[in-house]
Amino acid sequence: MKYVSLANNQQTTSFKEVVIQGLAPDKSLYYPAYIPQWKSSFIEQIPKLSDLEIALEAMGPFVDEDLSLSELELILTDVLCFDFPLQKVGDFYSLELFHGPTLAFKDVGAGFMARCLGRFIQNEQNKKATVLVATSGDTGGAVANGFLGVEGIDVVILYPSGKVSPIQEKQLTTLGQNITALEVQGTFDDCQDMVKKAFVDTDINSKVKLTSANSINVARWIPQMLYYIFAYKTLKNNGIQDLPVFAVPSGNFGNICAGILAHKMGLPVSHFIACNNANDTVVDFMNTGVYRPKDTVATISNAMDVGNPSNFVRILELFNKQKKELELNFTALSYSDAETKVAMREIYDEFNYVADPHGAVAYLGLQAYIAKNPTSAGVFLETAHPSKFIDVVESTLDIKVSLPENVRYLMNRKKHSILTSNYEDLKSFLLQ
Ligand SMILES: *Cc1c(COP(=O)(O)O)cnc(C)c1O
Repeated sequence: MKYVSLANNQQTTSFKEVVIQGLAPDKSLYYPAYIPQWKSSFIEQIPKLSDLEIALEAMGPFVDEDLSLSELELILTDVLCFDFPLQKVGDFYSLELFHGPTLAFKDVGAGFMARCLGRFIQNEQNKKATVLVATSGDTGGAVANGFLGVEGIDVVILYPSGKVSPIQEKQLTTLGQNITALEVQGTFDDCQDMVKKAFVDTDINSKVKLTSANSINVARWIPQMLYYIFAYKTLKNNGIQDLPVFAVPSGNFGNICAGILAHKMGLPVSHFIACNNANDTVVDFMNTGVYRPKDTVATISNAMDVGNPSNFVRILELFNKQKKELELNFTALSYSDAETKVAMREIYDEFNYVADPHGAVAYLGLQAYIAKNPTSAGVFLETAHPSKFIDVVESTLDIKVSLPENVRYLMNRKKHSILTSNYEDLKSFLLQ
């Protein structure tokens, strides 16, 4: 597989290069040169295959020129070291993607990318790179954890001060080693703008080899399609014949875009629902046909506080930029914090299930869609463990949420961050 930039499909670039570069030199996103098609025999066998066998078959075409099958197997074995269960919640299923090391779904993409990049950098001339990443909360922890101790790579994480949860902040700021957290006085979009600016800053790029670990990097984006295949497998193995409807809590739209990619490669899916909080740029686009980025609004589902979702252009591309085709397969809905809290209570009171605010937004979207399009295969993605958003979960449900064993130790560790108020601060840090 080669990749093209979304602004120029004439020039092709290898997987290795796109992983190292992150963003194309013309500042647009990389995209596969073609969409591979799975054989129908693969789709039929999914229920009987192991997660690793599925992952090898699904990911193989995207990396075949730069990773051997055995290298890919080593990486995937490392990354897929936890479960992706479906829990029955009323008539729906919750696809729990939070059983990884940092309790959010980003562990798979971040872990995959870190291992690919680590390998590729080892073969480069000066064997050093800096991963620069903006986080609205969960990306930072997943990236930090994925890259911790990876030789040749420094990680610089920008996060909006006071806008991430206590556990998220600990996951970003306590690891040390090759990980540095820059605490930005601003919003997530400010962080992302600073990162974008640094990537095209010639002063920086002549001295430092920068790469991105945001979901714009194909190595973060593409492996997320595995969740949808695993969910399909579990539904089939539970005797569900209807095609799945996936409701995805969406911020930068990387996760849902990966699901749509799987569908375009042949995975049977009935519909995708992008579920948003008050940051409803895409909902507006679906209603008006005009894409107008908005300023970010802070919400209780802060990992989705994104006013200009980077991956939406890839979704448009997957539907050949045809809005009609998009509408047939894709719905976008938005919910307020008040509605989200009501849903969290409903899910808890009626089904004794504790949903985090992101999962609850997805539940609402699924409920609305299925009211009009009944199916037995409604799946909402639970993208974070409730303890990652402990304050809002505890105050909304009036319960105590305990931290899973693997994060408890973090709360006693000391935070290290560098206060950053503007782009010049970031620049001088990177050049120092
Ligand atoms: C990152 C994140 C999202 C949004 O995912 P995108 O791929 O950016 O759309 C949703 N929920 C949680 C918990 C997240 O961490």
